[in-house]
Amino acid sequence: MSLQNHLTARIRADGPMSVADYMSDCLLHPQFGYYTTRDPLGAKGDFTTAPEISQMFGELLGLSLAQAWLDQGAPAPFTLAELGPGRGTLMADLLRATRGVPGFHAAMQIHLVEASPALRGVQAKALKDQAPRWQDSVDALPDQPLFLVANEFFDALPIRQFIRAGDGWSEMRIGLQDGALAFGLSSAASQPALAHRLEDTKDGDLVELCEAAAPILHAIAARIAARGGAALIVDYGDWRALGDTLQALRAHEPADPLQTPGEADLTAHVDFEALAMAAKTAGCAFTRLTPQGVFLERLGITDRARALAAPLQGAALDSLIAAHRRLTHPEEMGNLFKVLGLYPPQAAPLPGLNP
Ligand code: SAH
Repeated sequence: MSLQNHLTARIRADGPMSVADYMSDCLLHPQFGYYTTRDPLGAKGDFTTAPEISQMFGELLGLSLAQAWLDQGAPAPFTLAELGPGRGTLMADLLRATRGVPGFHAAMQIHLVEASPALRGVQAKALKDQAPRWQDSVDALPDQPLFLVANEFFDALPIRQFIRAGDGWSEMRIGLQDGALAFGLSSAASQPALAHRLEDTKDGDLVELCEAAAPILHAIAARIAARGGAALIVDYGDWRALGDTLQALRAHEPADPLQTPGEADLTAHVDFEALAMAAKTAGCAFTRLTPQGVFLERLGITDRARALAAPLQGAALDSLIAAHRRLTHPEEMGNLFKVLGLYPPQAAPLPGLNP
């Protein structure tokens, strides 16, 4: 049995499936899922992420969160949480950078929300001195102040895709054509969840809907609004996306999302407007959506890079300079990736972000 066979059997039994169901099976099927069965990160894997590019990323995010914690009167105990921690690199860098913040480590309880047993194993090694707790979902996070970070988590959540047809929407579905997986369209129907997209789209436009995101965001925002805390959400995407952003990456190269299911990373751009609206519904404040490069510059990434560069020369120096550029330059990750902060309405926004 393979994921390809499983999907084919599922489509033969139930008919064509939504892009969201396809993404779910590809990424998190218990036996064949992409994340469930491997560590996909790094040079030898399929893609790389900001914390894997440089320690500066996790350090600066950690210091922003720790300053927000100090600004809110250093509540103790508090939850320090990460969604989808990958290899645990961001959390390890965050913890090293915040060691000198008086009381922060004594008051924190680390919770990692991670669906992949394979990656939980990698995280346990990276954080072996910390005894983190793992959770299946944000609902299990304790009812206490919550300081949270999520990098490239929301882009891995399944999306549905719709094409505008009059005042209705046809849904993209994945079925079989001559035995192979192929995209098709359902007949048009009204979609109450897309009512606001009738304003800014025309016939034939494609929009995406991530139904899993809002409940997750709501759970985080409700804790921050009621108990205090802050969240940094970093991902690629924009305020209200338009068009097909489903993307497969294999060995650092774009791939066809329907080829080799379960063997490639599948992601979609994050609709930050939807996240912000879910925060608002929960009574939580959110910051202006800010390009990653601007955010990291405001937090002092260039000074940090200079300090790290001082003892270096040759290839090590070149690689540090390249990492700084990659994280911040508008033509690299600096503009494509955005940062949204969440904070309690009565508190100051996080350092590096504006209301
Ligand atoms: N944040 C890391 C890894 C990003 S990859 C980094 O920046 O390097 C996405 C991560 O989210 C992986 O750890 C993956 O296993 C996890 N993940 C994906 N979908 C998830 C879900 N529905 N629930 C919990 N974790 C999930």
